[in-house]
Amino acid sequence: MSSPPTQSTPSTSPAGPVAPETSARLFARAAEVIPGGVNSPVRAFNAVGGTPRFMVSATGPWLTDADGARYVDLISSWGPMILGHAHPAVVDAVRSAAGQGLSFGAPTPAEIELAEEIIGRVEPVEQVRLVNSGTEATMSAIRLARGITGRRAVVKFAGCYHGHVDALLAQAGSGVATLGLPTSPGVTGAQAADTIVLPYNDLDAVRTAFAERGSEIACVITEAAAGNMGAVAPLPGFNAGLRDIAHEHGALLVMDEVMTGFRVSPAGWYGIDGVAGDLYTFGKVMSGGLPAAAFGGSTEFMGHLAPAGPVYQAGTLSGNPVAVAAGLATLRHADASVYAALDANSARLGGMIGDALTAEGVAHRVQYAGNLVSVFFTADEVHDYAGAQAAQTWRFPAFFHALLERGVYPPPSAFEAWFVSAALDDDAFSVIEAALPAAARAAAAAQAPA
Ligand SMILES: *Cc1c(COP(=O)(O)O)cnc(C)c1O
Repeated sequence: MSSPPTQSTPSTSPAGPVAPETSARLFARAAEVIPGGVNSPVRAFNAVGGTPRFMVSATGPWLTDADGARYVDLISSWGPMILGHAHPAVVDAVRSAAGQGLSFGAPTPAEIELAEEIIGRVEPVEQVRLVNSGTEATMSAIRLARGITGRRAVVKFAGCYHGHVDALLAQAGSGVATLGLPTSPGVTGAQAADTIVLPYNDLDAVRTAFAERGSEIACVITEAAAGNMGAVAPLPGFNAGLRDIAHEHGALLVMDEVMTGFRVSPAGWYGIDGVAGDLYTFGKVMSGGLPAAAFGGSTEFMGHLAPAGPVYQAGTLSGNPVAVAAGLATLRHADASVYAALDANSARLGGMIGDALTAEGVAHRVQYAGNLVSVFFTADEVHDYAGAQAAQTWRFPAFFHALLERGVYPPPSAFEAWFVSAALDDDAFSVIEAALPAAARAAAAAQAPA
């Protein structure tokens, strides 16, 4: 891993002070009581070096850290904040729900509305069960697929991340990729043995795996479009091929739309390629930024869940009224103009990044999966995890820190998508545009590890 770039370069942007003194103090204190100082590894700066910024407030496209520095947010809380931060309609909905009581442990009317909103957008989904995180959604969907089919094995793709579910951590993307872990200690051999990991976008590998173990395979789980190894869209026919192969062998297709759902179109990736999965997982955007997620599918499949059926799944805080209010307000405000803004902002950002890197002669690919965007430091198009790993990821830390110092907050990893919000405006883009030439020069000057 490359050494952390210096933090002491004075800022040339109006973003505010750069030396993250308060963040550094908070990080040291956090590291005493929280492993690695963070509550989710992707927030640490392990892959880029330096001090994670401790945030104290956010509004629209802006984040403000504990030292008073302002950043254009290109992470959007890893996806949820499509409307920008502290959107008045969402904050009002949360305040009003909180004032009515925080949790009842009993059904509420608003849960029905959120379920109806999701079902109204994603045609193959007839019922949903609300949960608290994307991890819970994929874990429960896998259990349901196993319960329905009576089979044990699961096919997943290298570089795809489905939360920190034991069976799904093998060659996972996101923080697992960032930290360079093949899988995680604590996952048993039996769990790993039931997981078949294949290269993304490789239908031949899927056919071969099914030819060998088809009668054992409960489901194929895939990111509807991969965003956790950087943005890697499925090649034409890949998702449809997965569905056909799975169905030929009596297995289910689980479309993980935790990242893409309600972001890349009103109906998520399903709204882009129209390939219906058997089960779906959602999170991030549908939570509005509070802990909420969901899994769903046909009434027939979802009817296997307790209390209607025998597959057990539960949650003390599932369908929490405050989280449901945030999700519902977010989805209701995410109209056609919001999706047009997300698409336009993604194209504008990707274009700016590409222009800056081209000007410095840095080999790169700006890739999109809908309005998810990311940059790979390679001349070759990236279709799978091996391609993402083969890029010159060692250029990324310098690129990242040059942006951060100039008031732009991208994901601190070469293996993550960048998330735009509809709130990015000309002011925000002018900060990004001003920061990119120096970042491109830093990327160009970066040295490969010996
Ligand atoms: C973020 C993510 C998850 C996990 O969601 P959490 O809420 O972090 O548990 C699962 N699948 C995909 C595709 C994701 O991007």
